[in-house]
Amino acid sequence: MDLSAVPILDQHCHALLRDGAVSGAAAYASFFTESGDATMHARHVPESVFYRWAVRELGALLECGPTTEAVLAARGRVSAEALARRLLGEANIGALLVDHGYLTDETWTPAELAARVPCRVWPILRLETLAQTLIVRHETFDAAVDAYSAVVERARADGFVALKSIIAYRTGLAVASASRADAAAAFGPVKERARRDGRVRLADKPLTDYLLLRALEIAERQGMPVQIHTGFGDADLDLREANPLHLRPLLESGRYARVPFVLLHASYPYVRELSYLAAMYRNVYADVGLAIPHVAAEIPAVLRQLLGLAPASKVMYSSDASQIPELYWLAARWARRGLGAMLDELVALGALGGDEALAMAGRVLGVNAAEIYGLPWP
Ligand SMILES: [Zn+2]
Repeated sequence: MDLSAVPILDQHCHALLRDGAVSGAAAYASFFTESGDATMHARHVPESVFYRWAVRELGALLECGPTTEAVLAARGRVSAEALARRLLGEANIGALLVDHGYLTDETWTPAELAARVPCRVWPILRLETLAQTLIVRHETFDAAVDAYSAVVERARADGFVALKSIIAYRTGLAVASASRADAAAAFGPVKERARRDGRVRLADKPLTDYLLLRALEIAERQGMPVQIHTGFGDADLDLREANPLHLRPLLESGRYARVPFVLLHASYPYVRELSYLAAMYRNVYADVGLAIPHVAAEIPAVLRQLLGLAPASKVMYSSDASQIPELYWLAARWARRGLGAMLDELVALGALGGDEALAMAGRVLGVNAAEIYGLPWP
């Protein structure tokens, strides 16, 4: 099944570097791993299937040899803008939902990105980054929380199509109901650090939980989708705390029944746990980004596990790509190929008709996201 004509709505990604120049092989390899370890970048990442496969595919696209040196030379001959336009165009990506809260200063803003690539771009509001900025700016807990609530209230009017939380990274997914008094007590030491350093990394549980629940109350009133990081990620993540099953009390509370929860990254390696949640709760959706492209050889298996239990109306494509356009292109390419291979098996088995399989692919690659975020599509 060739899905290259099915347009993609990449429902969770980040922004591209303004200056796309890459300084060498190890720096290039660093884009193909979540590890921050320099020895991993120099010695081991180039031995991964993900990296090898990526370089072979890029070598073919850029009409150079399948080596890092050849790919770096070929990409160095064009501007960051031209490379982005070509790769995102080739990938037939119709729209990007962009979380600009990562590497904010080094990357194009959503508006700058929209002016450079052949895709529509809508922004996503990252909650913890917002809270950090406001804690630096405001003296008291009340002032910081009021400012935070005001921005979240206005998010939809300001053009954001979803909220996004990285609480898994900070204090884990076992979000507990925190009282205003507990949160206010936690604010003091956080504000101290903010005063001292001029910035702050928020990882204080009563405060992170309180702020997320505040945002969820607002999202509930507005029916605003909320993306939540689950599963693997950067080195500062305790993977045990990122198991999506920790979200059960929050889902069971019934207080956020109107919030579409989009659980990111296939919750990898908790893929079947995610599939179960998406199959059980009407407002839980499973995303595949980061797992696609990182797990490369395992992409059909991940899709098979998600669609094994969760309905196709609950599974959505994204790349979680950032910084270099190669990642958006590879993720789109491998998602279509993996999905096509998996659906071909189901058609051969007699489980689906060809038209049903194609409609399912369309749902996963864009239609579901368009419905959930209320976006025009295609
Ligand atoms: Zn992300």
